[in-house]
This record gives sequence, C-alpha cells and structure tokens, in this order.
Amino acid sequence: MFDYLIVGAGFAGSTLAERLASQLNKKVMLVDKRNHIGGNAYDRYDDAGILIHQYGPHIFHTNSKPVFDYLSEFTKWRAYQHRVIACVDGQLVPIPINLDTINQLYGLNLSSNDLEKWFASVAEPRAEIRTSEDVVISKVGRELYEKFFRGYTRKQWGVDPSELDACVTARVPTRTNRDNRYFTDAYQAMPLRGYTRMFENMLGHQNIKILLNTDYKEIIETIPFKKMIYTGPVDEYFDFRYGKLPYRSLRFEFETHDKPVYQPGPVINYPNDYAYTRVTEFKYLTGQESNKTTVVYEYPQDEGDPYYPVPRQENADLYKRYAVLADETPDVYFAGRLATYKYYNMDQVVAQALTLFGKIAEHDTEIALPMATTVSSGSRLTDVDGVAFRPQAIARNGNGHNGRRRQNGSGKARSQNAKTDGKGNGDPARYVKPTS
Ligand SMILES: Cc1cc2nc3c(=O)[nH]c(=O)nc-3n(C[C@H](O)[C@H](O)[C@H](O)COP(=O)(O)OP(=O)(O)OC[C@H]3O[C@@H](n4cnc5c(N)ncnc54)[C@H](O)[C@@H]3O)c2cc1C
Repeated sequence: MFDYLIVGAGFAGSTLAERLASQLNKKVMLVDKRNHIGGNAYDRYDDAGILIHQYGPHIFHTNSKPVFDYLSEFTKWRAYQHRVIACVDGQLVPIPINLDTINQLYGLNLSSNDLEKWFASVAEPRAEIRTSEDVVISKVGRELYEKFFRGYTRKQWGVDPSELDACVTARVPTRTNRDNRYFTDAYQAMPLRGYTRMFENMLGHQNIKILLNTDYKEIIETIPFKKMIYTGPVDEYFDFRYGKLPYRSLRFEFETHDKPVYQPGPVINYPNDYAYTRVTEFKYLTGQESNKTTVVYEYPQDEGDPYYPVPRQENADLYKRYAVLADETPDVYFAGRLATYKYYNMDQVVAQALTLFGKIAEHDTEIALPMATTVSSGSRLTDVDGVAFRPQAIARNGNGHNGRRRQNGSGKARSQNAKTDGKGNGDPARYVKPTS
C-alpha cells in the first residue's frame, strides 16, 4: 500500500514526493504519462550532444532563499544572469526596455534623468489599468507598445493585449538605467548538470517508486494508495465538467548548427516578424562548450500540451468553479501550475509544494513535528498569489479516511519545513513574487 499516489513528476510532484519520502518516511508512487521525469523543465542531450530543454528555455531565478536552499540540496549551480535581445525595426536591442534600448533605437544620447522625462512625455495615462495594453501604454506610450509588446503578445497568446489581464505585461518591467538583465532576482542560476539530473537526485529516495509512460487513470484502480496529489490539469481531473480551461501551447523546432555560436545572445525575441516568438541558443544558458550549437524556435498555438493558463477574467471565473470541486474532493491535494491554473514560475511551484507539504505534515497525525514552527498568525493561509489555501480541503484525519477537520484550534498554521524569521520570510510561498 502506498501512502501517496502523486500524479506528475514536474517540480510540484517531485518536490512533494521528495519531502514526503525523506521527511515523513511515506511510501510514494510517482506516475507521469510522459516518458521522463522533470515535467516541463526536463532537459536532455540531443543527437549533437548539446544539452537542450525539450519544452523551451527554463531559466531559474528566485527571491526566495528557502526555495533556493531547498533545491541546492539536489544540485550545484552555475551562476547565470539571463539577457534577452529584441529584433525591432531591423535592429537588435536589449529588452526589458532600458536606457540603451531607447538610445540605440532612436539614435539618442539620453541620460537616465532624460529618459524618465522622455517616458513621461510619451506615456498615455489611463484612468484605470485593466488590460495588458493599459499597463504598457500608460508607462511607455503607444509607439513602444506597438514595437515591442503588441505583436509579441498577439503571437504568444493568440489575442490582442487589450483582451488580456494586466498581469501579462505587468511582468515585463521598463527601466531608466542600463541594467539589461532580464531578471533582477536575488538568486539567478542554472542547475550545474541540468534540471533532469537535479530531479534524479530529488527522486532517488528508496521510498519513491516511479512509473513513466502511464496515465494515472490506467493504474488508479489497481495500485493501492491512501491519498493522492494531483499536478495535472484540474479541468481534466473532473472530466471537463464545466468545459475546458483554455491553455496556450507551443510547437518547438530545434535546429543544430555546425558552428560554436549561432546568434549574439541567449534569446532573441521577434515581436513583429515571423510566426515564431523567439529563438533560444541553449549553450548560453548551460555554459556547455562544443563546436556545434542547438537553437529552438517557439511557435505559439492553441492545440498541444497545456503550457500557459490564459490569463483572462472569464477563465479565472471558470477555474474558481473547478477549485470548488477540488475543495470538495476528499484525500486529493491539487498542486502545481496546471492543477491550480496559475501562470507560476518554477520557484513559485516549489514554494507552493513546500507550503503544501508543511500543511500535510501538520495534519498527519502519524508523525511528530519536532521542528514545527508558526508560519502564519492569521486563520487564513496564503499561497503565492495571496489566494487562500483551503484548509478544510487539505486537513485530513491522517488515517486514510475522508473525515475533515479544520486547522488547530488557535487558527495558527504550523509547518515542519518552513521556519519563520519574524519577517514573513519563513514561508517560502509567501516570499516569492512573480517576476517573469
Ligand atoms: C515554454 C516554457 C518556458 C518556461 N520558462 C520558465 C522559466 O524560464 N523560468 C521559470 O521559472 N519557469 C518557466 N516556465 C514555467 C515552468 O515550466 C513551470 O513553473 C513548472 O514546470 C511547473 O511545474 P509543475 O510540476 O506544476 O507542472 P509540469 O512541469 O507541467 O508537470 C506536470 C506533469 O504532470 C504530468 N501529467 C499530467 N496529466 C497526467 C496524467 N493524467 N497522468 C500522469 N501524468 C500526468 C505531465 O506529463 C507533466 O509531466 C516555463 C514554462 C514553459 C511552458
């Protein structure tokens, strides 16, 4: 009998499998319908011997020390600051838009102070910031919006920025200095020997059994388990009862070139030309040395693997209906990007999984909690987006039955793995902010 059946071997499922096995001595069956672990962060060596990311470039960055420390148990790191170039008006300019971008694009010689004024002169203030278009136009005006954002967003999401929630373009900053790094997080690094190797280290515990090439529905009746953690698409779990939650997908085209370097930077965005959005050259990310190089072109599309939850209000509303069903499903925990229908980065998914683990540990009456520490003083626990976790849905009676109980009487949450420092930094989930 397994204590947990975990569906999905990506960051969410693997973090939970590792914690449950190593900290609570639980027996875990981890199942994935793909033929590999790692979920969308999976990397592998291609026929030319180049380490590639099969599902598009994955750059690790976080402000969460607990998340970084946790993953550091399973990998060494290679320091890496990501940089992106945009091909606009036939020029290659740095993005996020910064001082160099504007000076180069318009042949100017502005200072940072000048640029602030320049932005103010072109910005079109909006009474209400509702859509992605509002975000950009209110900051940098229509012309830069057209050059850098509109076409890219239309390709990426298949709809105009005026139809997308503000959060999409709010993720992309503009700067008046010359900082051309894509992220400014405190921790920016790539797993030294790749993501897959890191996942192998996470999942090496003897209590974890892994079943690949298997949809969980094929084995759910035959493999005995007490509880389930589900990290696949939430609408699929409920047989699309309320209809399909929309996802955006991608088609990847890999190309290997017989030369050491193909393009002048790790990623080149093409906001206005071609059907693809960007081209990534992996060797910049991984630091690998070779006489050959592999790049990937990304073509957004509706059909295919579900990659990006589409951030529109009507979709959020539809998800809420599924979230109610999830709440009402005993002994199943929903975690990760697809099961919570959130546009999370890797670090946010790890933070969410660690927080969930803390709550499982708290409510698991079979174990003692010698290191238990208060991480939230209110009666509500918050996840990465500040969305309330649903304590009644994750509070189990620890014996495999479906009975429910609330958090401890004081209304305080306790977690084994998250120690607080009094500044809210103890709960990894609360410490992570969306940055990309
Ligand atoms: C193109 C792209 C680029 C990205 N770049 C970055 C980046 O640079 N930095 C960053 O931080 N984040 C990035 N992300 C986000 C990152 O991929 C996710 O945050 C992270 O991988 C989510 O992990 P997860 O475990 O929630 O989901 P996933 O990695 O999607 O894992 C879910 C797993 O569940 C399995 N599964 C689903 N249904 C079933 C079923 N019925 N039975 C069995 N198995 C099932 C799937 O096969 C999958 O392996 C990117 C995402 C994409 C798509």
